[in-house]
Amino acid sequence: MKITLVGASGRMGQAISACAAKTPEMEIAWRIDDATSDFANAGFIRDCDLVIDFSSHLITPRIAELCAENNKPLVTGTTGHTAEENKLIIDQTKKIPMVKATNFSTGVNTLFWLTRKAAEILGPDFDLEVIEMHHRLKKDAPSGTATTLLEILGNVRNLQLKDALRHGRQGITGERTHNEIGIHAIRGGDVVGDHTVIFANTGERVELAHKATSRDTFATGALRAAQWVINREPGLYSMQDVLGLKA
Ligand code: NAD
Repeated sequence: MKITLVGASGRMGQAISACAAKTPEMEIAWRIDDATSDFANAGFIRDCDLVIDFSSHLITPRIAELCAENNKPLVTGTTGHTAEENKLIIDQTKKIPMVKATNFSTGVNTLFWLTRKAAEILGPDFDLEVIEMHHRLKKDAPSGTATTLLEILGNVRNLQLKDALRHGRQGITGERTHNEIGIHAIRGGDVVGDHTVIFANTGERVELAHKATSRDTFATGALRAAQWVINREPGLYSMQDVLGLKA
């Protein structure tokens, strides 16, 4: 499989290159970065079998469009897209198969599954809070993974996130209501990615936590998604589809 890697010199790009080097049937044939001019060379999209994108929210819509024009599957892990960028990206899944995931680790996808189950079982009496921590160089907040966790909680509770979310708390906030979900983004050091979902009630508290200590977990997941998606029908797929964790 000849792969075009967008964001190749970034932290994730390097982890994916290293993992692909250990996988004989995969070759990173094209490396795209904001500093390179490979965009000008049509070969990077015409001659590859599949594109993997871990770059910037600004470039994913154009990458998705190029994939659709050239009939190439796309695996994208880039986060921080605006609603408009997301729409442009997802529109292309009418023409190509795409795995779009805020987190490619098997552990975090298990956390997604457990979070839904716990929210369903524990019910509306439990207060919901999400805490995430990442390295000091991360550019978006809250993390894409935390956003997915919030969407899962919002879905189970039937809450509109635009009304329900409380980003940190400061000053005289008043008492906590049942219809809010707290989200707290911590930044510092070289933390690869920590996520904790708290379900708190009077007299008891459940906490589900995942801590990533290496980017290899995301990289191997992205390569697994690439092998899975290459012969799929056009459509939007998640890592839950890849891992068979749906439902
Ligand atoms: P990084 O800053 O280390 O690397 C970003 C790369 O993208 C760089 O190589 C940069 O040159 C390239 N880039 C930026 N703008 C570009 C443009 N306009 N055109 C072409 N290339 C461009 O970031 P990172 O830590 O590697 O993370 C990259 C993305 O992946 C982020 O959105 C991050 O949140 C996300 N991420 C996702 C997962 C997941 O499992 N889904 C895991 C970790 C990180």
